[in-house]
Amino acid sequence: MMIDLHMHTPRCGHAAGAPSEYVTAARRAGLEVIAFTDHLALPDGYDPGGEYAMRPWELGDYVAEVREAQRLSRQSPRVLLGIEADWVPPHRAQTVRAIASHPFDVVLGSVHFLGEWAFDDPRLIDEWSLRDVAGAWDEYFEIFTHAAASGLFDVMAHPDLVKKFGHVPPGDLSALYDDVAAAVADAGVAVEVSSAGLRKPCREIYPSDALLAAFCRAGVPATTASDAHTPQEVGSGLAKVRAAVARAGYGSIVYFEAREMREVPL
Ligand code: ZN
Ligand code: FE
Ligand code: FE
Ligand code: ZN
Repeated sequence: MMIDLHMHTPRCGHAAGAPSEYVTAARRAGLEVIAFTDHLALPDGYDPGGEYAMRPWELGDYVAEVREAQRLSRQSPRVLLGIEADWVPPHRAQTVRAIASHPFDVVLGSVHFLGEWAFDDPRLIDEWSLRDVAGAWDEYFEIFTHAAASGLFDVMAHPDLVKKFGHVPPGDLSALYDDVAAAVADAGVAVEVSSAGLRKPCREIYPSDALLAAFCRAGVPATTASDAHTPQEVGSGLAKVRAAVARAGYGSIVYFEAREMREVPL
């Protein structure tokens, strides 16, 4: 089934195009299920420029906008109401309240921060030269597995986002990947397989083939996504994503409706 479970709207401050244009693009691309998953407002201090996420008071308007896109789509494609929420542990209660305040179909969990460093922001890339890459990876996956186990999320987005600019530690990563996959399996959440990495300096799907194979072996369900920030990106790279999912050993993928997992043939 052709599913794109991750796309944005201009409310986050770094995307373009009206939701209706995303829906039209999805229909043209032959997608059957899509989810709007714009960035939920970050806690105070994490988004001073308003370029990472919507503002807290915009959530109701965002939901209304997605509802309107649902009406316009007439079920072709089916449009789900989602949100992409950052895992910022000190502000867990605030995130829980926001997620509970609307009847979302799907909640994506994301890790875009190591401490207060937005490690995937190209403007902050210099910080990478001050860091030990292996240390940054360990820190990232520790936060990622805690996020998975938090109970807040249905799907963990872009599982190895830490590689975005091509920073990958040398050596065999299979033990790390097996540990991450086991933790995500215990948490009972799904993972996203995203084409976004193909459009970034790492030039690779999130997650890598090796991490995705570890997820499959551990029994972690997978979904497919573009993380589109423009209508043109809706469904982009989906053929490559679906090939990676099949290569890893999956015969089915999942999406969520009213936060219930639905398994469908790939
Ligand atoms: Zn974004
Ligand atoms: Fe993200
Ligand atoms: Fe996103
Ligand atoms: Zn994203």
